[in-house]
Amino acid sequence: MAKLLEGKPIAEKIKQEIGQQVQTLKNKPILASIMVGDNAGAASYVKSQTKVAENLGIEYQLHNLAQDTTENSLIEFVQKLNADKSVNGIIIQMPLPQQIDYKKISQFILPEKDVEGVHPANIGKVLFGKAKILPCTPAAVMELINSTGVDLYGKEVVVVGHSEIVGKPLALLLLDKFATVTVCHIGTSKAGKLEEHVRKAEILIVAVGKAGLIKGDWIKEGAMVIDVGINRVGDKIVGDVEFEAAEKRASSITPVPGGVGPLTVTMLMRNLVEAAQLQQ
Ligand code: NAP
Repeated sequence: MAKLLEGKPIAEKIKQEIGQQVQTLKNKPILASIMVGDNAGAASYVKSQTKVAENLGIEYQLHNLAQDTTENSLIEFVQKLNADKSVNGIIIQMPLPQQIDYKKISQFILPEKDVEGVHPANIGKVLFGKAKILPCTPAAVMELINSTGVDLYGKEVVVVGHSEIVGKPLALLLLDKFATVTVCHIGTSKAGKLEEHVRKAEILIVAVGKAGLIKGDWIKEGAMVIDVGINRVGDKIVGDVEFEAAEKRASSITPVPGGVGPLTVTMLMRNLVEAAQLQQ
């Protein structure tokens, strides 16, 4: 049976360090969070972020804008927060209403206040291995791998999913550690080659959002499996990997929930403190 790679104990350790760094700042750091409209998913992220921020001595300012907010008025709102010297970081909660293009809006956040690490300037630094603010979920995955003590050098790593916020930046971070990285996506699946790639993964990272996409018997014996996916199936939250079958073959595997999730919010707070330090 695989060892469970739980995010919480690692997150707790990192939170202690963040808490100490907060004490050294001149002012209490402020994270401005923008939620547009009313969405249960966004509301649950806000709830957990509020709790973590409070425990760390970070001020969490929630701005709840109307459902019919236009792109232009959201941009104006972001620019107001950019100009507000007391605000150290800005996060825009997903999902957004249809009339708003997240990619467009995220480019208006000042790079030094972009605590999600999604601004092109910050992503560009990831490419050069020089980023101080890393995209939260890829950073969370790297912390999980790091906690196992496994050396990525020369490892066969397969990432499934190539989104701008998870798969692509994660592939860059893995390359920076000299892993041999294969990135699979919808084209891989359509070509009928997903199984073939997954089978050779010594470390498999899946970030798609489709329950049961990765069959348990595809997992290489002794592989490390990191399941980023979050899917609601009935009244349960599951990942993208068939957990019960996969844990019989893997050497370690993340539970969903409880794997990557608790670390992602911790990475957000780490970025905020990093941003506050850079702004001092
Ligand atoms: P996304 O933007 O929807 O990206 C999904 C990726 O999967 C895309 O690259 C997509 O390719 C690819 N894909 C779709 N169907 C596929 C298939 N059949 N085979 C192979 N690849 C396929 O989602 P995301 O924001 O990256 O998030 C992915 C999952 O991680 C979601 O479940 C999300 O809820 C979860 N998530 C969890 C955390 C956490 O903290 N635990 C954080 C962020 C996200 P195309 O775009 O080309 O179709």
